[in-house]
Amino acid sequence: MEEEVPVRPLYRHVRDLLLACRETHADEIDCDESLGFMSGYAEALAEGREVPGALTKVLEHERLCSNCREDCRALVDVLLARQVQGVPGQEP
Ligand SMILES: [Zn+2]
Repeated sequence: MEEEVPVRPLYRHVRDLLLACRETHADEIDCDESLGFMSGYAEALAEGREVPGALTKVLEHERLCSNCREDCRALVDVLLARQVQGVPGQEP
């Protein structure tokens, strides 16, 4: 019994994926930009504030980029630890 590989549906599927990929990249920021916004973003997270609109791009990037996700998590951890310790001069 011979099976034919359905090339066309597969091709269409790949093309859809590529198009989706290009669409997300149109509005995406890269790692450098993400790092630029990250301190403000991590501060908002650590303080339990809502992430400001401009920083939601970091959120989007973080979802796709495990490196930045880890960096951000580490940064939030540092900020939270600092809050708990009550470092002098950091109080409002
Ligand atoms: Zn990244």
